[in-house]
Amino acid sequence: MSYADKDIERVLFTAEELKARVAQLGAEITRDYRGKDLVLVGILRGAYIFMSELARQIDLPCEADFMSVSSYGSGTTSTGQVRIIKDLSEPVEGKDLLLVEDILDTGNTLYYLREMLAARRPASISVCALLDKPERRVKDIKADYMGFTIPDAFVVGYGLDYAEHYRNLPYIGIVKPEVYGG
Ligand code: 5GP
Repeated sequence: MSYADKDIERVLFTAEELKARVAQLGAEITRDYRGKDLVLVGILRGAYIFMSELARQIDLPCEADFMSVSSYGSGTTSTGQVRIIKDLSEPVEGKDLLLVEDILDTGNTLYYLREMLAARRPASISVCALLDKPERRVKDIKADYMGFTIPDAFVVGYGLDYAEHYRNLPYIGIVKPEVYGG
């Protein structure tokens, strides 16, 4: 039980399921990045909880850096506009970047970020997304590491918000439409 259960229509992934899946992703990344110069690039703010769990499941030396980009404001649909609010703190030339994102939805955000970071000449760029909504994709982009595929519904929890609420829920759930006037 949590403070927000009354606003949640359905729990998609419990805290235990999330932890187990993130451990598997961490093991895959550990296997693939041995001997590389790994930098985890967390996309704030939605990926902050995923990134902290994933980083602890990667058994390799790695750096952690963050970017913040504008997303939906307080609505629930993408505008296609991506604005950098906070850039990386370190140069990435020659490094192996792994972009850590909460959800791959239309793909606009990651498509743009990947293009922008590629211009800085890293050795490689891959994408790790906890959730994927393939039905909504507009841009041609796929995650190299993917936690779960989900239907086209607005989800919150485990870092994901609706109008800055629910980020601290330990599970991921679908918000009741009446919460956002749907
Ligand atoms: P894209 O650019 O792929 O359309 O959108 C990616 C961003 O939109 C995600 O990083 C996330 O911040 C936001 N987003 C997309 N779908 C959802 C959702 O179901 N719930 C929440 N809270 N954010 C979402």
